[in-house]
Amino acid sequence: MEPVPCFHCATMFIPRNRKQYCCSHPACRRARKATWQRIKRKTDADFRAATKLSQNKWAASRPGYWKAYRQRNPEKAERNRMLQTVRNRRRSSAACLPIAKMDARNPLGFQPIGQFWLVPLIAKMDATKVNLYAISDPLP
Ligand SMILES: [Zn+2]
Repeated sequence: MEPVPCFHCATMFIPRNRKQYCCSHPACRRARKATWQRIKRKTDADFRAATKLSQNKWAASRPGYWKAYRQRNPEKAERNRMLQTVRNRRRSSAACLPIAKMDARNPLGFQPIGQFWLVPLIAKMDATKVNLYAISDPLP
């Protein structure tokens, strides 16, 4: 067969059959399996239930794992906390949410304050890291 590019790493490889779309590199095999599982979870309710049961058993057999994980990765814990706030608000009352307006960003002449996460409350998008600037002239 003709060499084809790997779907994940884009290196050329010779597939064993017409269905093979990624090479045999361990990272690519993990990525292919993760993709397959993501699609399977979305489309197969039995698989989704079995996966959840298995994950619950795994977590029950390792008490304190997620607490230690959050302590090892505080930035991921903070990101998840913000995104969970968004999910909770979406779930409760979507009509009462304030609408964030995003103006054009022009940092010229402004002093940077710092970087923050912009978490959308209504728009369907991931949290975005933004730079905030102090405006030198007060508004009239
Ligand atoms: Zn590959």
